[in-house]
Amino acid sequence: MSSLRRCFVRSLLPLVGGLWMAMPAAAVEYENVVLVIHGGTARGRETLKPEREQAMRADMLKALAAGRDALAAEGATALDGVQAAVCVLEDSPLFNAGRGAVFTADERNELDASIMEGTKLNAGAVAGLTIVKNPILAARAVMERTEHVLLMGHGAEQFCREQKLELVDPSYFRTEERLEELRKVQAEEKAGKTSAVGADLEGNVAQTFSPLTPGPSPARGEGRTWKEYGTVGAVAVDKVGHVAAGTSTGGMTNKRHGRVGDSPIIGAGTYADDRSCGVSCTGHGEFFIRFSAAQSIATRVRLLKQSVEEASRTVIHDELGPAGGVGGAIVLAPDGHAAFNWNTPGMWHGWLTRDGRMNVAVYRE
Ligand code: ASP
Repeated sequence: MSSLRRCFVRSLLPLVGGLWMAMPAAAVEYENVVLVIHGGTARGRETLKPEREQAMRADMLKALAAGRDALAAEGATALDGVQAAVCVLEDSPLFNAGRGAVFTADERNELDASIMEGTKLNAGAVAGLTIVKNPILAARAVMERTEHVLLMGHGAEQFCREQKLELVDPSYFRTEERLEELRKVQAEEKAGKTSAVGADLEGNVAQTFSPLTPGPSPARGEGRTWKEYGTVGAVAVDKVGHVAAGTSTGGMTNKRHGRVGDSPIIGAGTYADDRSCGVSCTGHGEFFIRFSAAQSIATRVRLLKQSVEEASRTVIHDELGPAGGVGGAIVLAPDGHAAFNWNTPGMWHGWLTRDGRMNVAVYRE
């Protein structure tokens, strides 16, 4: 049976102006999937340089292969698959996680990550790390070796040192490309073209949104300059059908020192529950926190009996979108059904099927 089945097309979407980009494209149902990954959202196809696209695709495939090998090992759990895939993406300078993380307004790299397993709903997370090479390993250590869920800053780093996790000089995370990105965002902000984190591009401060009077939708940003959210994440199912999910990020370019986004917040950027699915998100974290996006998708699957595709489409397109919340999510259920939804022009995503086939896509290809 085909691993990818087009189940329906939301036909006759208004193909007007920039509107189409943020509308749900063809809804696709994926079957027999054991691992899904993401590398954040993408701008329009015209902005994608071929060499960079090729390099990113290669690293996504490497991450899928690492996840596949980890899942195949004797006694492997879904957590092992998630960890292996995320580590590869953290080690790549092309994604906003680990090496290649974006910069804060004062030119630091502050890393966040979380991991969760769906059997007992155990979870671990870290925020504001500056010297830990692989934050996803730190998140897992918090889950497995402490009685806590979230450690931050110096305390988290002290814990990582005690646990003998690999530490690096903060300069390890610095890349010229991200520094340039920061300078560009700061220059645009100064010129009033774009806004600081927390306000959308029309200048509306995110906090003014009310579910009853929705703010500007990303779909209304005709000709807008899309930001790229390069966070990485993975969701895996192991041989016995348990799910796990993990997310790792440098946060948002030009964020305040100390700002924490959705990625290390269980229920916002990451969630896993064997009774429904595992979820990893990427996008403007403040919105994902306020909408408890990851947990909301899982709860729709569990209580409303929605498919993973319908649940994630509803949260990303019908709830976050109209509020101005930009981003996407990857979802995988214990039965191998997967879904990818985003309200930006694209999202880097990949999936591995039970029979070992690996796929990477950015748009609805
Ligand atoms: N969600 C992340 C954050 O807000 C950013 C991203 O997805 O790239 O920190």
